[in-house]
Formats: sequence, C-alpha cells, structure tokens
Amino acid sequence: MTKDELKRFQGILVARQAELENAIRNRDALAIDTSPDELDRVQHATEREMAIDNLERQSDRLHEVQSALRRIDAGTFGTCLDCEEHISLKRLAAVPWSPSCITCQEAADRNRTQPWDAAEEASVIEGSLMHAA
Ligand SMILES: [Zn+2]
Repeated sequence: MTKDELKRFQGILVARQAELENAIRNRDALAIDTSPDELDRVQHATEREMAIDNLERQSDRLHEVQSALRRIDAGTFGTCLDCEEHISLKRLAAVPWSPSCITCQEAADRNRTQPWDAAEEASVIEGSLMHAA
C-alpha cells in the first residue's frame, strides 16, 4: 500500500471515528419516558431498545475503527490479524476498519452462523455407534 493510500484510509477512519463518537454521545433516545400515556410509553420503550441496540453496534464499530487507526500508527494496517496476509484494497475500500482478510472473515462468519448444535452432535454420535455395530 502506498503512503497516499494509507493517508486516505486514515482520513476515512478519523472521520468515521468522529461520527461514531458523536452518535454515541447523543443518547437522548435512551432517556426513560415518564409520559402518562401508556401507548406513548410502550412506543418509547421499543425505540429505546432499538437505540440501545444501535449504541452497542456503534460502540463495537468505534472500537474497530480505533484499532484500525492504531494499526496505521503501528504500520500493520492492511495486514490480516489472523493469517498475516495482505487484505485486498478492494475490501479495505469497502470496510476500512476490517481487521482480517476476506478468507478469515468468511471462516469466522461461518463459525458464528453455524454453531456446533446439539442435533448435529447427535447425528455424529449416532453415526459412530452405527459404525461400531
Ligand atoms: Zn486472513
């Protein structure tokens, strides 16, 4: 990656960091509504839950952005944290705070979306029992 490219990513990340910090600071939606109208309160409670979800996502993202900025300082930006291969520029352009290459990211996503569930385990045990018999 060239110095110019690195500078560009740094600029994007710094801007994103400021944006997220602002969004996180603005917690008006988290105030508890004491409206006497029950429907108002219910509606506000739902909005509040959504705002909390959002806040969690934003603060996760902020951490990712901050680690990416630290990697720029450390000179390791653009290197996958898992396999130490280069992360493609195309991927970084889409997700500048990405800590890992597409291969490692996809592997991690697969692990997350398809946990080792009980049904799968049962069928494996069944299979090995049948094999033993
Ligand atoms: Zn990787």
